[in-house]
Amino acid sequence: MAEAVLLEKGNYYGYPICCIQAFIRTYPTNSVTDAQIVASEYTGFIPCVKHTEEILARKIQLEDLILPTRQHPKPFQKS
Ligand SMILES: [Zn+2]
Repeated sequence: MAEAVLLEKGNYYGYPICCIQAFIRTYPTNSVTDAQIVASEYTGFIPCVKHTEEILARKIQLEDLILPTRQHPKPFQKS
């Protein structure tokens, strides 16, 4: 997937730019860390390393990162 498409999708879902850019850098090998997978809670939203650390330290929650500019019709939800 092209960078521009990933950026557009990330914005659509309300993901912060740092996390989108971090994800783009891992694409297409998807070399995300185990910590990032845990922090993502299998939502499909892979937070960047900095945000992963904050989530695992319980300073923030995954859903706190979702921006109010999210365009997807459904609110972000953990399963
Ligand atoms: Zn981030």
